[in-house]
Amino acid sequence: MRQILDSEVAQTVTSNNYLLPSSVDIMCPHCKRLVTFNLKWSSLNKNLVYTLSRCAGCGDISYFIIVDFKEINEQKVLKGSLFVYPEADRRKAIEGINEVEDFSDGLHRAYESTINVYNTREWTATAVLCRRLLEGITKTLLPSEEHDKPLAKQLEILPNKTDLHRPIMTLAHAIRKGGNLGAHFDLEKEPNEETTKLMVDLIDYLIEYLFILPQRIEELNNYVEKMPKD
Ligand SMILES: [Zn+2]
Repeated sequence: MRQILDSEVAQTVTSNNYLLPSSVDIMCPHCKRLVTFNLKWSSLNKNLVYTLSRCAGCGDISYFIIVDFKEINEQKVLKGSLFVYPEADRRKAIEGINEVEDFSDGLHRAYESTINVYNTREWTATAVLCRRLLEGITKTLLPSEEHDKPLAKQLEILPNKTDLHRPIMTLAHAIRKGGNLGAHFDLEKEPNEETTKLMVDLIDYLIEYLFILPQRIEELNNYVEKMPKD
């Protein structure tokens, strides 16, 4: 289930003091086309209303639900939050990216645009934005005197300018130190839920970094290498 934004609501009607969306422009959860769903609401109830609508493209049915009606003005007009089910599998930003201080505002914007454009199924534009984002990331990691070099050259010198091994070594040592708490009996320093949750998280990152990521990168590279050159 996904919440539909006000900006995706094309038209509204007011019925018995309820402000209701009568059509929405969204990506069909089934065929992924951007289509207009017309919404006809019947029984109104302050807690929940629902309806269904058929995609004009593929003919499949999606369900629309409004919950949590609230008064929005002095005329006591009620407006609720609109949701659609099922949810089209839209790509989302990688978890935790908002907490990374070194990922600048410019990179955030470039990354967000890339994901938004991907979700609109504009493949050429997405590929261009990915390349632009790679340039942005490389520039962030390299000193300014290297920025004018071609991207391939910048990537080549990247390992000399930034310590690519450091994060993984810090990670491995953190797990070792946490493990020592459990392995050596010490009443003062017993591992608790918080420590062990963190350790399992770290193990997940380690497995991802050492096993999953290299395999995915290899598969992706083989795929790209096999693509026709023009
Ligand atoms: Zn459809």
